[in-house]
Amino acid sequence: MTDVDTMATRLARIRQRIAQACERAGRAPDSVTLLPVSKTFEVDAVREAMALGLTRFGENKTQELRQKAAALAGQGLQWVLIGHLQTNKAKDAARDATELQSLDRLDLAEALHRRLVNEGRTLDVLVQVKTSSEPSKYGMAPADVAAFLRRITADFPTLRVQGLMTMAANSPDPLEVRACFRALRELRDQLRQESIAGVSLERLSMGMSGDFELAIEEGSTEVRIGTAIFGARSYPDPQ
Ligand SMILES: *Cc1c(COP(=O)(O)O)cnc(C)c1O
Repeated sequence: MTDVDTMATRLARIRQRIAQACERAGRAPDSVTLLPVSKTFEVDAVREAMALGLTRFGENKTQELRQKAAALAGQGLQWVLIGHLQTNKAKDAARDATELQSLDRLDLAEALHRRLVNEGRTLDVLVQVKTSSEPSKYGMAPADVAAFLRRITADFPTLRVQGLMTMAANSPDPLEVRACFRALRELRDQLRQESIAGVSLERLSMGMSGDFELAIEEGSTEVRIGTAIFGARSYPDPQ
């Protein structure tokens, strides 16, 4: 069977592969959320995705997020920041993002909290954890996460922790990739034993276009998919 390669067929194929991975893992197909990653793609591509029923989009730069959110204002979209955030961009994130999946250090938490208090709002966050040894990857060391979560609940109540996020090693070896995802799940299980008040660890955001099936098999609750839905990016992603 030859499918025409449109966003609709790409999206349908991804949904099918998510469902199949869930089935292999003995999980319910609705236990995995799809976060379409629209970073680097034009507003028209987001419109095309909206026409397919998508309403929540991942971006990695505050400026690009703001431009798209402004162009598509009033349509009930949700904007999720997934990329490394410089502390001086905390103000923009606190104003424009629905959610941040890349909280990875205390000074950023502090800056976000200060801005969120000004905005009079809260922000759902995931703590980004470094599960690979690649120097280019961001994220908090697994051993530091428990103390970080305690500090957030004590001092930064505008930040509502919903879970953890990671990017796996960029490796051709599926065992190495899987080990990253497993490390995040095991960290989550271990943190649950500590029952830190006010912190939810329901969500595990892990898996991208090239590795989401492994992530689902290891317990991902949310896969962040860019190129497999929107097509190839015309400029490289700095991460
Ligand atoms: C770009 C990006 C993605 C999506 O990557 P694809 O390979 O295009 O699916 C997922 N997560 C993060 C943090 C990203 O920066």
